[in-house]
Amino acid sequence: MKTFAFALSAALLATSCVAQIPTATLQSDAAAQMPALEKTYLMLHQAPELSRQEEKTSAFVASQLRSLGYQVTDHIGKYEDGKPAFGVVGVLKNGNGPTVLIRTDMDALPVTEETGVAYASKVRAKNAQGEEVGVMQACGHDIHMSAFIGIATELAKHKDAWHGTVLMLGQPAEEVIQGAKAMMADGLYTRFPRPDYVLGMHDFGNIAAGTVGISSGPMMASSDSITVVFHGVGAHGSQPQNSKDPIFMGAEFVTLLQGVVSRQISPQSPGVITVGTFHAGTKNNIIPAEATLGLTVRSYDEATLKKLLDGITNAANAVAVAYGLPADKMPTITHPESTAPTVNDAALTERVRKVAIATLGADKVLPQQAVMGSEDVGFLTDGYKIPMTFFRLGAGDPAKVAEAQKKGVALPDIHSPLYAPDYKPAIETGVVTMTAVAVSLLQ
Ligand SMILES: [Zn+2]
Ligand SMILES: [Zn+2]
Repeated sequence: MKTFAFALSAALLATSCVAQIPTATLQSDAAAQMPALEKTYLMLHQAPELSRQEEKTSAFVASQLRSLGYQVTDHIGKYEDGKPAFGVVGVLKNGNGPTVLIRTDMDALPVTEETGVAYASKVRAKNAQGEEVGVMQACGHDIHMSAFIGIATELAKHKDAWHGTVLMLGQPAEEVIQGAKAMMADGLYTRFPRPDYVLGMHDFGNIAAGTVGISSGPMMASSDSITVVFHGVGAHGSQPQNSKDPIFMGAEFVTLLQGVVSRQISPQSPGVITVGTFHAGTKNNIIPAEATLGLTVRSYDEATLKKLLDGITNAANAVAVAYGLPADKMPTITHPESTAPTVNDAALTERVRKVAIATLGADKVLPQQAVMGSEDVGFLTDGYKIPMTFFRLGAGDPAKVAEAQKKGVALPDIHSPLYAPDYKPAIETGVVTMTAVAVSLLQ
């Protein structure tokens, strides 16, 4: 009985240590912030900027953090091609304690909005190729930014509830998986305090707004873009005997790749190879000299990724050899884009999950399965030397999500021109959850 009483008081003590800002206070604060955050969301939604072009968006994020008393640095980041990036960092120091990094992404997508909502984006802009495209916050990064400002507001307001350093990070160019790398390449953790924890969240349309999804382990895949150019010998279409047909080689290569996935990697460690582009030729009766294929490769671990990449190289070379091409005509294989998988640290994620349950209730914190989509937030962990939790923020209308689940169908989700998130409860839940998590780590 005595032991039980002791255990109980210890448990109460532990609980009181976790809830540094009472949940009721957090909830009423977030609700009070909502009119302003809704305005922010609507403004950001109607002024989306493409990846690497987030000049106004980042200036807005920086000005908001500045007005809250954060020490703000902007224009952080250097891309691999030497161009500067629009990264933002706001630092709030509050005595001794851990350093927590909270990340939002800022960029929009080349998508023409078709939701029909009154506040739909009408913005058009030039993409990297100089083509005019519709622009939409179709991945909900406007939800992340709005919640981010709400979280920064709460942490600045409740400095008596935590100790340590908060790093609020606005990241550009997530959609082209270049922004986190560009900020790291610009000395992120030498110019600013190195975090002990990296936190982030992403909205999803098929998770009900008001809930969050939290699981540990790999949550999103690595993503690698591979370009393969087959060098053949061109000829008249009527004289295949005088050619080395790169279209035939490319077609054989696409077929061989299916065996790489099904026969060369373990079914327990899944992988994907998709050939998304295949360009060759100019006219029906000309065998071209070249064929170019664009691939995306996904996996959850390095060993599997290596097998997939080796398999692609071996398959391309094997086709060229089988077709009698000399050593100097082997396919050219390049690797222009690469991002690591998004892996949630087990110990940190368990802490985050417990805080989320204490804050939202157990029925509002859902387990999640990994997806083969990808993210570049993992670069902020400096090769997973810093533990990270990246959780999912429900953004679907709860009634529509329930109906869709009953019917076994999916709602329009991120990247769709029809994605119209239930942004108010999503932002509010994001503010409450992330603030509670950050404060619980900053002790
Ligand atoms: Zn996206
Ligand atoms: Zn996104």
